[in-house]
Amino acid sequence: MTTREPAYSPETVLVEAARPPRVPGASVNPPIELSSTFIGTTGMGDAPFGYGRLDTPAWTPFEEALAELEHAPVPGLVFGSGLAAIAAVLSLVPAGGTLIIPRHAYQGSLQSADELAARCGFTVLSVDIADTEAVIAALDTATGFDPTTATDPAAATDPAAASAMVWIESPTNPMLEVADVPALIAAARQRGVLTACDNTFATPLLQTPLDLGADIVVHSVTKYLAGHSDVVLGAVLVSDPGLRETLLAERAMRGAIAGPFEVWLALRGMRTLSVRLDRAQANAQTIAERLSERAAVLEVRYPGLPTDPGHARAAAQMSGFGAIVAFTVDSAQTATAIAEAVRLWTPATSLGGVESLIERRRRHASEPETVPEGLLRLSVGIEHVDDLWADLDTAITAATGTKAASPGTGAESSSHRDAQANA
Ligand SMILES: *Cc1c(COP(=O)(O)O)cnc(C)c1O
Repeated sequence: MTTREPAYSPETVLVEAARPPRVPGASVNPPIELSSTFIGTTGMGDAPFGYGRLDTPAWTPFEEALAELEHAPVPGLVFGSGLAAIAAVLSLVPAGGTLIIPRHAYQGSLQSADELAARCGFTVLSVDIADTEAVIAALDTATGFDPTTATDPAAATDPAAASAMVWIESPTNPMLEVADVPALIAAARQRGVLTACDNTFATPLLQTPLDLGADIVVHSVTKYLAGHSDVVLGAVLVSDPGLRETLLAERAMRGAIAGPFEVWLALRGMRTLSVRLDRAQANAQTIAERLSERAAVLEVRYPGLPTDPGHARAAAQMSGFGAIVAFTVDSAQTATAIAEAVRLWTPATSLGGVESLIERRRRHASEPETVPEGLLRLSVGIEHVDDLWADLDTAITAATGTKAASPGTGAESSSHRDAQANA
Protein backbone atom coordinates (compact mmCIF):
# COMPACT_ATOMS: atom_id res chain seq x y z
CA MET A 1 0.00 0.00 0.00
CA THR A 2 1.53 3.31 -1.02
CA THR A 3 0.74 6.29 1.12
CA ARG A 4 0.36 9.77 -0.26
CA GLU A 5 3.54 11.84 0.09
CA PRO A 6 2.52 15.32 1.17
CA ALA A 7 4.37 18.13 -0.57
CA TYR A 8 4.80 20.09 2.66
CA SER A 9 5.83 19.38 6.22
CA PRO A 10 2.99 18.60 8.64
CA GLU A 11 3.14 22.07 10.22
CA THR A 12 2.42 23.55 6.80
CA VAL A 13 -0.17 20.91 5.87
CA LEU A 14 -2.13 21.85 9.00
CA VAL A 15 -2.41 25.42 7.78
CA GLU A 16 -2.63 24.88 4.04
CA ALA A 17 -4.76 21.76 3.59
CA ALA A 18 -8.37 21.85 2.43
CA ARG A 19 -8.55 25.55 1.53
CA PRO A 20 -11.07 26.48 -1.17
CA PRO A 21 -9.70 27.13 -4.71
CA ARG A 22 -7.81 30.43 -5.09
CA VAL A 23 -10.29 32.53 -7.00
CA PRO A 24 -10.34 36.32 -6.54
CA GLY A 25 -12.91 37.20 -3.94
CA ALA A 26 -13.28 33.59 -2.73
CA SER A 27 -13.46 32.69 0.93
CA VAL A 28 -10.14 31.70 2.51
CA ASN A 29 -11.85 29.12 4.71
CA PRO A 30 -14.17 26.33 3.63
CA PRO A 31 -17.80 27.33 4.22
CA ILE A 32 -20.06 25.61 6.74
CA GLU A 33 -22.25 23.60 4.39
CA LEU A 34 -25.72 23.25 5.86
CA SER A 35 -27.80 20.90 3.77
CA SER A 36 -29.36 17.56 4.59
CA THR A 37 -30.00 16.69 0.94
CA PHE A 38 -28.34 17.35 -2.41
CA ILE A 39 -29.60 17.74 -5.95
CA GLY A 40 -29.41 14.52 -7.92
CA THR A 41 -29.31 14.01 -11.67
CA THR A 42 -31.12 10.82 -12.56
CA GLY A 43 -30.89 9.33 -9.07
CA MET A 44 -28.93 9.55 -5.84
CA GLY A 45 -26.06 7.43 -7.14
CA ASP A 46 -25.12 9.85 -9.92
CA ALA A 47 -24.23 12.93 -7.85
CA PRO A 48 -21.21 13.16 -5.52
CA PHE A 49 -23.56 13.80 -2.59
CA GLY A 50 -27.10 12.58 -2.07
CA TYR A 51 -28.22 12.60 1.53
CA GLY A 52 -26.48 14.09 4.58
CA ARG A 53 -26.23 10.91 6.66
CA LEU A 54 -24.35 9.11 3.88
CA ASP A 55 -21.84 11.82 3.00
CA THR A 56 -21.79 15.60 2.88
CA PRO A 57 -19.40 18.33 1.68
CA ALA A 58 -19.50 19.58 5.29
CA TRP A 59 -17.08 16.74 6.18
CA THR A 60 -14.81 16.74 3.14
CA PRO A 61 -12.24 19.45 4.03
CA PHE A 62 -11.62 17.98 7.49
CA GLU A 63 -11.50 14.39 6.22
CA GLU A 64 -9.00 15.31 3.49
CA ALA A 65 -6.80 17.39 5.78
CA LEU A 66 -6.61 14.68 8.43
CA ALA A 67 -5.84 12.02 5.81
CA GLU A 68 -2.94 14.13 4.54
CA LEU A 69 -1.58 14.44 8.08
CA GLU A 70 -1.90 10.73 8.87
CA HIS A 71 -0.51 9.77 5.43
CA ALA A 72 -3.71 7.96 4.50
CA PRO A 73 -4.16 7.41 0.75
CA VAL A 74 -7.95 7.83 1.05
CA PRO A 75 -9.93 10.52 2.90
CA GLY A 76 -10.66 9.97 6.59
CA LEU A 77 -14.11 9.37 8.03
CA VAL A 78 -15.40 11.79 10.63
CA PHE A 79 -17.77 10.45 13.30
CA GLY A 80 -19.99 12.08 15.92
CA SER A 81 -17.48 11.21 18.69
CA GLY A 82 -14.24 9.35 19.23
CA LEU A 83 -16.18 6.48 20.73
CA ALA A 84 -18.50 6.30 17.72
CA ALA A 85 -15.40 5.95 15.53
CA ILE A 86 -14.02 3.28 17.88
CA ALA A 87 -17.31 1.34 17.93
CA ALA A 88 -17.36 1.32 14.12
CA VAL A 89 -13.82 -0.09 14.04
CA LEU A 90 -14.54 -2.70 16.73
CA SER A 91 -17.52 -3.87 14.66
CA LEU A 92 -14.95 -5.27 12.19
CA VAL A 93 -14.09 -8.08 14.64
CA PRO A 94 -16.24 -11.03 13.51
CA ALA A 95 -18.19 -13.42 15.72
CA GLY A 96 -15.80 -16.12 16.87
CA GLY A 97 -12.81 -13.81 16.31
CA THR A 98 -10.43 -12.23 18.80
CA LEU A 99 -9.70 -8.70 19.93
CA ILE A 100 -6.38 -8.08 21.68
CA ILE A 101 -6.62 -4.94 23.75
CA PRO A 102 -4.39 -3.13 26.28
CA ARG A 103 -5.35 -3.61 29.93
CA HIS A 104 -4.87 0.15 30.31
CA ALA A 105 -6.48 2.21 27.57
CA TYR A 106 -9.19 4.77 27.13
CA GLN A 107 -11.93 3.51 29.43
CA GLY A 108 -14.68 3.83 26.83
CA SER A 109 -12.72 1.66 24.38
CA LEU A 110 -12.34 -1.10 27.00
CA GLN A 111 -16.00 -0.98 28.00
CA SER A 112 -17.18 -0.80 24.42
CA ALA A 113 -14.99 -3.80 23.53
CA ASP A 114 -16.32 -5.91 26.41
CA GLU A 115 -19.90 -5.03 25.64
CA LEU A 116 -19.56 -5.72 21.89
CA ALA A 117 -17.69 -8.97 22.54
CA ALA A 118 -20.48 -10.26 24.77
CA ARG A 119 -23.16 -9.28 22.26
CA CYS A 120 -21.38 -10.32 19.05
CA GLY A 121 -19.52 -13.35 20.38
CA PHE A 122 -15.83 -12.59 20.02
CA THR A 123 -13.02 -13.12 22.52
CA VAL A 124 -11.18 -10.27 24.23
CA LEU A 125 -7.57 -10.83 25.28
CA SER A 126 -6.30 -8.15 27.66
CA VAL A 127 -2.54 -7.51 27.49
CA ASP A 128 0.12 -5.21 28.87
CA ILE A 129 0.69 -3.36 25.61
CA ALA A 130 4.22 -2.35 26.70
CA ASP A 131 5.14 -6.05 27.04
CA THR A 132 5.87 -6.90 23.40
CA GLU A 133 6.41 -10.62 24.04
CA ALA A 134 3.07 -10.90 25.82
CA VAL A 135 1.26 -9.17 22.94
CA ILE A 136 2.95 -11.42 20.38
CA ALA A 137 1.98 -14.48 22.45
CA ALA A 138 -1.63 -13.24 22.37
CA LEU A 139 -1.37 -12.76 18.57
CA ASP A 140 -0.21 -16.39 18.30
CA THR A 141 -3.07 -17.56 20.53
CA ALA A 142 -5.59 -15.64 18.43
CA THR A 143 -4.35 -17.03 15.11
CA GLY A 144 -2.71 -20.37 15.87
CA PHE A 145 0.38 -18.91 14.21
CA ASP A 146 3.57 -20.93 14.48
CA PRO A 147 6.63 -18.63 14.43
CA THR A 148 8.93 -21.55 13.55
CA THR A 149 7.27 -22.02 10.16
CA ALA A 150 6.83 -18.30 9.43
CA THR A 151 7.81 -17.16 5.97
CA ASP A 152 7.07 -13.56 5.00
CA PRO A 153 7.76 -11.08 7.80
CA ALA A 154 6.43 -8.17 5.72
CA ALA A 155 3.09 -9.82 4.95
CA ALA A 156 0.01 -7.58 4.89
CA THR A 157 -3.37 -8.29 6.43
CA ASP A 158 -6.40 -8.79 4.21
CA PRO A 159 -9.00 -6.69 6.05
CA ALA A 160 -11.91 -8.69 4.64
CA ALA A 161 -10.43 -12.01 5.80
CA ALA A 162 -8.99 -11.05 9.20
CA SER A 163 -10.55 -12.77 12.20
CA ALA A 164 -8.50 -10.93 14.81
CA MET A 165 -7.63 -7.33 15.62
CA VAL A 166 -5.00 -5.83 17.89
CA TRP A 167 -5.84 -2.50 19.48
CA ILE A 168 -2.83 -0.30 20.13
CA GLU A 169 -2.94 2.75 22.33
CA SER A 170 0.43 4.40 22.87
CA PRO A 171 1.07 6.17 25.15
CA THR A 172 -1.76 4.58 27.12
CA ASN A 173 -4.44 6.38 29.05
CA PRO A 174 -3.94 7.05 31.95
CA MET A 175 -0.70 5.15 32.72
CA LEU A 176 1.44 6.57 29.88
CA GLU A 177 2.89 3.16 28.97
CA VAL A 178 4.62 3.10 25.59
CA ALA A 179 4.07 0.17 23.19
CA ASP A 180 6.68 -0.92 20.67
CA VAL A 181 4.40 0.26 17.86
CA PRO A 182 6.57 -0.81 14.87
CA ALA A 183 7.20 -4.29 16.33
CA LEU A 184 3.53 -4.89 17.17
CA ILE A 185 2.31 -3.78 13.74
CA ALA A 186 4.90 -6.00 11.99
CA ALA A 187 3.94 -9.01 14.14
CA ALA A 188 0.23 -8.44 13.50
CA ARG A 189 0.72 -8.18 9.72
CA GLN A 190 2.74 -11.37 9.68
CA ARG A 191 -0.20 -13.14 11.34
CA GLY A 192 -2.96 -11.56 9.23
CA VAL A 193 -4.28 -9.62 12.23
CA LEU A 194 -5.82 -6.17 11.73
CA THR A 195 -4.05 -3.35 13.55
CA ALA A 196 -5.96 -0.38 14.92
CA CYS A 197 -4.11 2.46 16.67
CA ASP A 198 -5.76 5.04 18.86
CA ASN A 199 -3.51 7.99 18.02
CA THR A 200 -5.33 10.54 20.20
CA PHE A 201 -2.49 11.16 22.67
CA ALA A 202 0.26 11.34 20.04
CA THR A 203 -1.54 13.17 17.21
CA PRO A 204 -0.22 12.73 13.66
CA LEU A 205 2.54 15.21 14.48
CA LEU A 206 4.25 12.73 16.84
CA GLN A 207 3.53 9.39 15.13
CA THR A 208 1.87 8.18 11.92
CA PRO A 209 1.03 4.47 12.42
CA LEU A 210 -0.21 3.99 8.83
CA ASP A 211 3.39 4.54 7.69
CA LEU A 212 4.37 1.53 9.80
CA GLY A 213 1.71 -0.66 8.21
CA ALA A 214 -1.20 -0.15 10.63
CA ASP A 215 -4.57 -0.78 8.97
CA ILE A 216 -6.57 1.75 10.98
CA VAL A 217 -5.96 4.89 13.00
CA VAL A 218 -8.65 6.37 15.22
CA HIS A 219 -8.84 9.75 16.91
CA SER A 220 -10.89 11.39 19.53
CA VAL A 221 -10.90 14.67 17.57
CA THR A 222 -12.40 16.16 20.75
CA LYS A 223 -8.88 16.28 22.20
CA TYR A 224 -5.74 17.68 20.53
CA LEU A 225 -6.98 17.95 16.95
CA ALA A 226 -9.88 20.27 17.78
CA GLY A 227 -7.93 21.48 20.79
CA HIS A 228 -10.29 23.92 22.51
CA SER A 229 -12.62 21.72 24.57
CA ASP A 230 -15.61 22.91 22.59
CA VAL A 231 -16.52 19.95 20.36
CA VAL A 232 -17.00 16.19 20.70
CA LEU A 233 -15.93 14.44 17.50
CA GLY A 234 -14.06 11.39 16.23
CA ALA A 235 -12.33 10.16 13.10
CA VAL A 236 -11.03 7.00 11.44
CA LEU A 237 -8.19 6.82 8.91
CA VAL A 238 -7.43 3.71 6.87
CA SER A 239 -4.90 2.66 4.26
CA ASP A 240 -7.22 0.31 2.33
CA PRO A 241 -10.02 1.79 0.15
CA GLY A 242 -12.19 -1.32 0.66
CA LEU A 243 -11.91 -0.93 4.40
CA ARG A 244 -12.98 2.69 4.03
CA GLU A 245 -16.10 1.55 2.17
CA THR A 246 -16.94 -0.90 4.97
CA LEU A 247 -16.54 1.74 7.67
CA LEU A 248 -18.41 4.34 5.64
CA ALA A 249 -21.33 1.89 5.36
CA GLU A 250 -21.13 1.29 9.12
CA ARG A 251 -21.29 5.04 9.78
CA ALA A 252 -24.20 5.50 7.37
CA MET A 253 -26.14 2.52 8.75
CA ARG A 254 -25.69 3.34 12.47
CA GLY A 255 -25.95 7.07 11.82
CA ALA A 256 -23.17 8.10 14.22
CA ILE A 257 -22.49 11.22 12.19
CA ALA A 258 -20.98 14.62 12.94
CA GLY A 259 -22.66 18.00 12.66
CA PRO A 260 -21.30 20.48 10.09
CA PHE A 261 -20.46 23.16 12.68
CA GLU A 262 -18.49 20.75 14.88
CA VAL A 263 -16.46 19.59 11.90
CA TRP A 264 -15.81 23.18 10.84
CA LEU A 265 -14.63 24.00 14.38
CA ALA A 266 -12.37 20.95 14.38
CA LEU A 267 -10.61 22.04 11.19
CA ARG A 268 -10.33 25.57 12.55
CA GLY A 269 -8.78 24.23 15.75
CA MET A 270 -6.47 21.88 13.89
CA ARG A 271 -4.83 24.78 12.03
CA THR A 272 -2.91 25.66 15.22
CA LEU A 273 -2.12 22.10 16.37
CA SER A 274 1.64 22.34 15.87
CA VAL A 275 2.10 25.53 17.91
CA ARG A 276 -0.30 24.33 20.61
CA LEU A 277 1.46 20.99 20.87
CA ASP A 278 4.95 22.54 20.88
CA ARG A 279 4.08 24.72 23.86
CA ALA A 280 2.08 22.04 25.68
CA GLN A 281 4.91 19.49 25.30
CA ALA A 282 7.54 21.91 26.54
CA ASN A 283 5.32 22.71 29.53
CA ALA A 284 4.69 19.00 30.17
CA GLN A 285 8.42 18.25 30.17
CA THR A 286 9.07 20.99 32.74
CA ILE A 287 6.11 19.99 34.92
CA ALA A 288 7.17 16.32 34.83
CA GLU A 289 10.76 17.24 35.79
CA ARG A 290 9.64 19.44 38.66
CA LEU A 291 7.18 16.82 39.89
CA SER A 292 9.94 14.17 39.92
CA GLU A 293 11.90 16.30 42.37
CA ARG A 294 8.90 17.15 44.48
CA ALA A 295 8.47 15.73 47.96
CA ALA A 296 5.13 13.85 48.33
CA VAL A 297 5.20 12.69 44.69
CA LEU A 298 5.82 8.92 44.61
CA GLU A 299 6.05 8.38 40.86
CA VAL A 300 5.85 10.41 37.67
CA ARG A 301 5.03 8.82 34.32
CA TYR A 302 5.99 10.89 31.30
CA PRO A 303 7.84 9.39 28.31
CA GLY A 304 9.96 12.55 28.08
CA LEU A 305 11.70 11.82 31.39
CA PRO A 306 14.96 9.93 30.68
CA THR A 307 14.16 7.70 33.70
CA ASP A 308 10.70 6.74 32.39
CA PRO A 309 10.35 3.05 31.39
CA GLY A 310 8.90 4.14 28.02
CA HIS A 311 11.52 6.81 27.26
CA ALA A 312 13.82 4.92 24.88
CA ARG A 313 10.93 3.52 22.86
CA ALA A 314 9.13 6.84 22.65
CA ALA A 315 12.36 8.60 21.65
CA ALA A 316 12.87 6.04 18.87
CA GLN A 317 9.35 6.03 17.43
CA MET A 318 7.82 9.41 18.23
CA SER A 319 8.92 12.92 17.29
CA GLY A 320 7.87 14.28 20.68
CA PHE A 321 6.59 12.99 24.01
CA GLY A 322 3.15 14.56 24.11
CA ALA A 323 1.62 16.64 26.86
CA ILE A 324 -0.08 14.15 29.18
CA VAL A 325 1.64 13.48 32.50
CA ALA A 326 0.56 11.09 35.26
CA PHE A 327 1.82 11.25 38.82
CA THR A 328 1.04 9.32 41.95
CA VAL A 329 0.71 10.45 45.55
CA ASP A 330 0.16 8.29 48.63
CA SER A 331 -3.63 8.01 48.61
CA ALA A 332 -6.93 8.79 46.95
CA GLN A 333 -7.57 11.40 49.64
CA THR A 334 -4.32 13.24 48.92
CA ALA A 335 -4.91 13.10 45.17
CA THR A 336 -8.45 14.43 45.60
CA ALA A 337 -7.19 17.19 47.90
CA ILE A 338 -4.66 18.28 45.24
CA ALA A 339 -7.31 18.31 42.51
CA GLU A 340 -9.53 20.40 44.79
CA ALA A 341 -6.79 22.82 45.81
CA VAL A 342 -5.70 23.96 42.34
CA ARG A 343 -6.91 27.34 41.15
CA LEU A 344 -5.44 27.61 37.65
CA TRP A 345 -5.59 23.94 36.60
CA THR A 346 -9.17 22.86 35.99
CA PRO A 347 -10.41 19.72 37.73
CA ALA A 348 -12.15 18.03 34.80
CA THR A 349 -11.96 14.96 32.64
CA SER A 350 -10.92 15.09 28.96
CA LEU A 351 -7.61 16.38 27.64
CA GLY A 352 -5.87 18.04 24.73
CA GLY A 353 -7.35 21.52 25.06
CA VAL A 354 -5.40 24.76 25.45
CA GLU A 355 -6.28 24.86 29.16
CA SER A 356 -4.58 22.58 31.69
CA LEU A 357 -6.75 19.91 33.31
CA ILE A 358 -6.19 17.65 36.32
CA GLU A 359 -8.11 14.48 37.15
CA ARG A 360 -7.94 11.60 39.62
CA ARG A 361 -8.77 8.63 37.42
CA ARG A 362 -9.67 5.97 39.98
CA ARG A 363 -12.72 7.97 41.08
CA HIS A 364 -14.36 6.33 38.03
CA ALA A 365 -15.73 2.95 39.14
CA SER A 366 -14.88 1.44 35.75
CA GLU A 367 -11.14 2.25 35.99
CA PRO A 368 -8.93 -0.91 36.26
CA GLU A 369 -7.67 -1.73 39.75
CA THR A 370 -4.09 -1.63 38.44
CA VAL A 371 -4.42 2.17 38.15
CA PRO A 372 -3.15 3.51 41.50
CA GLU A 373 -5.72 5.17 43.78
CA GLY A 374 -3.44 8.18 44.15
CA LEU A 375 -2.82 8.71 40.42
CA LEU A 376 -3.53 12.13 38.97
CA ARG A 377 -3.59 12.66 35.22
CA LEU A 378 -2.53 16.03 33.90
CA SER A 379 -3.41 17.37 30.48
CA VAL A 380 -0.83 20.12 30.25
CA GLY A 381 -2.03 23.16 28.34
CA ILE A 382 -0.39 26.22 26.86
CA GLU A 383 -0.43 28.65 29.80
CA HIS A 384 2.90 29.98 31.14
CA VAL A 385 4.67 27.04 32.73
CA ASP A 386 5.67 28.98 35.85
CA ASP A 387 2.04 29.83 36.58
CA LEU A 388 1.10 26.18 36.10
CA TRP A 389 3.90 24.94 38.34
CA ALA A 390 3.24 27.53 41.06
CA ASP A 391 -0.42 26.52 41.20
CA LEU A 392 0.31 22.79 41.29
CA ASP A 393 3.15 23.20 43.78
CA THR A 394 0.89 25.24 46.08
CA ALA A 395 -1.88 22.64 45.78
CA ILE A 396 0.54 19.82 46.66
CA THR A 397 1.75 21.80 49.65
CA ALA A 398 -1.81 22.46 50.77
CA ALA A 399 -2.77 18.80 50.40
CA THR A 400 0.32 17.20 51.91
CA GLY A 401 2.06 19.79 54.07
CA THR A 402 5.29 19.14 52.13
CA LYS A 403 7.24 21.80 50.35
CA ALA A 404 9.11 21.80 47.09
CA ALA A 405 12.36 19.86 47.55
CA SER A 406 14.44 22.05 45.30
CA PRO A 407 14.23 25.81 45.88
CA GLY A 408 13.83 28.00 42.86
CA THR A 409 11.56 25.71 40.85
CA GLY A 410 8.37 27.24 42.21
CA ALA A 411 7.44 30.82 41.39
CA GLU A 412 5.56 31.25 44.68
CA SER A 413 7.08 32.88 47.73
CA SER A 414 7.60 30.51 50.63
CA SER A 415 5.41 32.59 52.93
CA HIS A 416 2.52 32.18 50.52
CA ARG A 417 3.18 28.45 50.49
CA ASP A 418 3.16 28.33 54.30
CA ALA A 419 -0.15 30.12 54.32
CA GLN A 420 -1.56 27.56 51.90
CA ALA A 421 -0.16 24.68 53.91
CA ASN A 422 -1.94 25.91 57.00
CA ALA A 423 -5.20 26.56 55.22
C1 LIG B 1 -11.42 10.80 24.82
C2 LIG B 1 -10.80 9.62 24.18
C3 LIG B 1 -11.55 8.75 23.40
C4 LIG B 1 -13.05 8.90 23.20
O1 LIG B 1 -13.35 10.01 22.42
P1 LIG B 1 -14.73 10.86 22.58
O2 LIG B 1 -14.53 11.93 21.59
O3 LIG B 1 -14.82 11.30 24.00
O4 LIG B 1 -15.85 9.93 22.25
C5 LIG B 1 -10.89 7.68 22.81
N1 LIG B 1 -9.57 7.48 22.99
C6 LIG B 1 -8.82 8.30 23.74
C7 LIG B 1 -7.37 8.02 23.91
C8 LIG B 1 -9.41 9.39 24.38
O5 LIG B 1 -8.65 10.19 25.14
